[in-house]
Amino acid sequence: MNKNEELLKLKSQMLKDEKLPLKKGATNLVFGVGNPDTKILFIGEGPGYWEDQKAEPFVGNAGKLLNQLLQLIELKREDVYITNVVHHRPPDNRDPLPEEIEAYKPYLDKIIEVIDPKVIVTLGRFSMGKFLPGVKITSVHGKIHEVNWMGKEIIIMPMYHPAAALRNPEVMRQIRDDFQKLPEILKEANKVDVKQMQLV
Ligand code: URA
Repeated sequence: MNKNEELLKLKSQMLKDEKLPLKKGATNLVFGVGNPDTKILFIGEGPGYWEDQKAEPFVGNAGKLLNQLLQLIELKREDVYITNVVHHRPPDNRDPLPEEIEAYKPYLDKIIEVIDPKVIVTLGRFSMGKFLPGVKITSVHGKIHEVNWMGKEIIIMPMYHPAAALRNPEVMRQIRDDFQKLPEILKEANKVDVKQMQLV
């Protein structure tokens, strides 16, 4: 099975999973979008109104900003993969609860395993908390963290959530600065890949 087929299989399992706690209140499953062969995975928080309507992550105002930030570094949505910590819309766009995040975790973990990214950009504190528990976004955003995730070295780049940037011009300035660091980080991550290949 290629990555696309594996993701489709996972999505169909999720569609059938009646135990997912936010399913009842949601219109659609918002699984993920983009290029499964990418080296860079973006993980947000959870679907809002428009994502729930369109069954696609980051298609509302925060999504428009995410598209612009990607453009800034000459990337398109189709070059990366985008998903969330929870894949159904929480009622009234409230924060996902710890037990909800836990219920969606096996699916998110599998998405990460299939995509096998070199770099994960966490958007906001919920996805950051998955890899960097206990840290504060104000002190770690824009700084790379190498973590061993299920036996693989992955670079985690925590960033503010685009919705926070829309509310606060200073956060907007910082998220733009943080995005501009990504091309160099990707270049370095690819170099490590080549080095490892030469060792084999
Ligand atoms: N905010 C998120 O965290 N995810 C989305 O998909 C949309 C808005």
